[in-house]
Amino acid sequence: MDGAGLPEAATGAEAPVTTATTCAYCGVGCGVLATPAADGSVAIKGDPDHPANLGRLCVKGSALGETLSTEGRLLAPRINGQDADWDTALDLVADKFHKAIDTHGPDSVAFYVSGQLLTEDYYVANKLMKGFIGSANIDTNSRLCMASSVAGHKRAFGTDTVPGTYEDIEQADLVVLVGSNLAWCHPVLYQRLAAAKAANPRLKVVNIDPRRTATSDLADLHLAIAPGSDVALFNALLVHIHEMGAVDSRFVADHVDGFDGALAAASSDDPARTGLTEAEISRFLSLWTAREKVVTIYSQGVNQSSSGADKVNAILNCHLATGRIGKPGMGPFSVTGQPNAMGGREVGGLANMLANHLDLENADHRDAVQGFWASPTMADKPGLKAVDMFKAVKSGQIKALWVMCTNPVVSMPDADYVRKAIAGCEFVAVSDMYGSTDTAQLAHVALPATGWGEKDGTVTNSERVISRQRPFRQPPGQARHDWAIIADVGRRMGWEEAFAFSSPAEVFDEYARLSTVTRSFGRDFDISGLSGLSVTDYDNLSPTRWPVTSGKTGGRFFGDGGFFTASGRANMLALRSKAVAQAPDSDLPFVLNTGRVRDQWHTMTRTGQAARLSQHTGEPYLEIHPEDAAKLGLEPATLARLANPHGSAVLRVKHSDNMRRGEVFAPMHWTGQTAVTGRINALVAPVTDPVSGQPESKAATVAVAPYAPAYYGFAVSLSEFHPQTGYWARARVANGWQAEFADITAPEDWLAFAQTLFGIEGADVTSLIDDATGIARVALYKDGKLVAALFASRDPVAVARGFVAGQLGTCGRAVLAGQPGADQPDPGPTVCACFNVGINTILRGIDEMGLTSVDAIGEALDAGTNCGSCRPELSALLNTRKQAAE
Ligand code: SF4
Repeated sequence: MDGAGLPEAATGAEAPVTTATTCAYCGVGCGVLATPAADGSVAIKGDPDHPANLGRLCVKGSALGETLSTEGRLLAPRINGQDADWDTALDLVADKFHKAIDTHGPDSVAFYVSGQLLTEDYYVANKLMKGFIGSANIDTNSRLCMASSVAGHKRAFGTDTVPGTYEDIEQADLVVLVGSNLAWCHPVLYQRLAAAKAANPRLKVVNIDPRRTATSDLADLHLAIAPGSDVALFNALLVHIHEMGAVDSRFVADHVDGFDGALAAASSDDPARTGLTEAEISRFLSLWTAREKVVTIYSQGVNQSSSGADKVNAILNCHLATGRIGKPGMGPFSVTGQPNAMGGREVGGLANMLANHLDLENADHRDAVQGFWASPTMADKPGLKAVDMFKAVKSGQIKALWVMCTNPVVSMPDADYVRKAIAGCEFVAVSDMYGSTDTAQLAHVALPATGWGEKDGTVTNSERVISRQRPFRQPPGQARHDWAIIADVGRRMGWEEAFAFSSPAEVFDEYARLSTVTRSFGRDFDISGLSGLSVTDYDNLSPTRWPVTSGKTGGRFFGDGGFFTASGRANMLALRSKAVAQAPDSDLPFVLNTGRVRDQWHTMTRTGQAARLSQHTGEPYLEIHPEDAAKLGLEPATLARLANPHGSAVLRVKHSDNMRRGEVFAPMHWTGQTAVTGRINALVAPVTDPVSGQPESKAATVAVAPYAPAYYGFAVSLSEFHPQTGYWARARVANGWQAEFADITAPEDWLAFAQTLFGIEGADVTSLIDDATGIARVALYKDGKLVAALFASRDPVAVARGFVAGQLGTCGRAVLAGQPGADQPDPGPTVCACFNVGINTILRGIDEMGLTSVDAIGEALDAGTNCGSCRPELSALLNTRKQAAE
């Protein structure tokens, strides 16, 4: 069995063993040192020897040890909700896929996979679907994240190549962030940038984002650009580069095609589309041409767009025209959202790609891969991209679907449609760590997969560094590695030899050996130098930047040309800006932007387990400009209903002058398990970029209106509880659970409501209920300890949530006051999750202790001195106080 041979967790009898592994979350790909202790806890530290983070971690990474509970884990295969043995479950999956293929052909089946799979998992899945089933119907949630960058790279460079390295960020004199809230989404890169800026006063930062975010506080210039208008801005830059004589004529003459056409198209574009003032645009253009060492970092704000690929190419055009690419401190830099989005791209995990960055539509490439695999067939046309795949599931074209390591019922656009599509599919298999995800609940067969800390393989981060994810604990129950599950199904479908893998090292070796065959095509991706590694060498593999060949290891690409097009020359594209696909109108007057919060990851299946990660943002919210809110009658902390023809959501209102008027923002993490009305992707239309197929998740149109509940509620309990109200959002707290809730009718009997809500029998009850004012406060005690408490009122509940949650398990006699006594000031909502320092404590420190810098706050209050994720917010609080004083 594939679990065999993994290290045992520490038992206390032996000295603690530290395992060097890689973070499970974003594409920065930080190295992590994990040390299990005898009590089952796992100490986490940043790996000082890993080139991505050099010892740093953000708050999500540093809390990895708090996400390892086996609570909620899928421990055995399940068929139609009943536990089954592996043989029966795998036979059923193989049989259902076989029958669909026999009856309806290979394009009647599909895999929907994930950038959180390891490269070995991805490789085996791609091999099975493309080379043996004979369809390219394998697509990945990276389609929602990176596909526009892939398309842009291929159009400009001939391959999907990230030219530079993280060190370029530190060597630059100008870093331009486009559509990237680096401080929250790639925090360790943000920390590296902040440190570089502190050390180099010449280094300037420009932040291009419709929203002012935590990242903007580091920026010398924030450009609140109109959604979707990035092409117009970079076209203006290209014209300026030309006018200022900043074109690198030698580089263009030697290595680039399409300059004249790109410049002509850029000249005919209209910078006014950006919504920026001439002075703002002019300042940006001047900064760009005054500094040679420019790095442009871009992520989802660029990619998740109906013109995402064009935005990428508009950025690449400027770097190609100036030759500022592949040299120290210079280059375009796409940063990936997921830990192994890059690995997935390398093995051909997208429906339109082949392994090793080869082209599915190139017969020579197909023949080489098919020959190497000795496979009976080979997909010869692109398969269904994510949005189209779920349309095909809904229409019945896909008869058998296998979802691996992802939760499309929450994360896909038009998520309610996707739920209906999956629910109606003839056969659905889901491999996941958890059986309760919104998607796993719809599976005919649920297969327990290993998770972080158990998985064994490799990932590639945004700077092309391949790192080992190593196991340091046994998988729970019968969980197995994804590569092993897929290989087992492949063998059951009749391809014994091709899927006779017995270890991840064997899979990786085959993958590396494929490079020795495909290298004759002269592509960028080549790891032939890693073929033939022994199991020990593979186990000990240090972080390694590809390519790894006899001639070149690591380094940058394209500083001296050498592009991977047929001519060897890069392409500049003639581009004109386009409007976002959906324009707001009188029915849907707001543009909805979606994104991440600081302390959560994707659909929260793992980060949602760490209580301290829920303290920063415990429920989904709607960020809206105060003037828009006033027009709609939306007070802070009330609830708003968003709706459009695709779906609806109810969210907590947060006034913010960081928003442009007419635009709103909502985070995308909440699921049917954590917030009944918070699945924001239900409102994202399935509109995609025509080149990349990536959905426009940053610019849906919605109507916003007050949701007027009869009451608002807040509750805590030592045991898990699940409100059954019209609105609710729940999260873990240090020793229990909390929930915000509301409904359009109020309970007639609050004590009976509390009984049903908590399901706790035989408790001593203390209450304060006033029907005239609508105030209800109920506390439940057992054995003299507070086990649950409920607060309700007609207005948003004004209690100190941290204080209330902290009373659980204590005598908690003062809990109904909802606030600490005068001798215990309310710390307020958590800003620093590492040291649990609240906003009120920090503001008091600024006002009363005279703290004037982030470092001074750290020295006095500890805040920001561990992972550093809250430092941008500390800086913002200082700025706010400073502005108020001026
Ligand atoms: Fe993990 Fe944070 Fe590093 Fe991303 S920045 S890889 S989430 S520790």
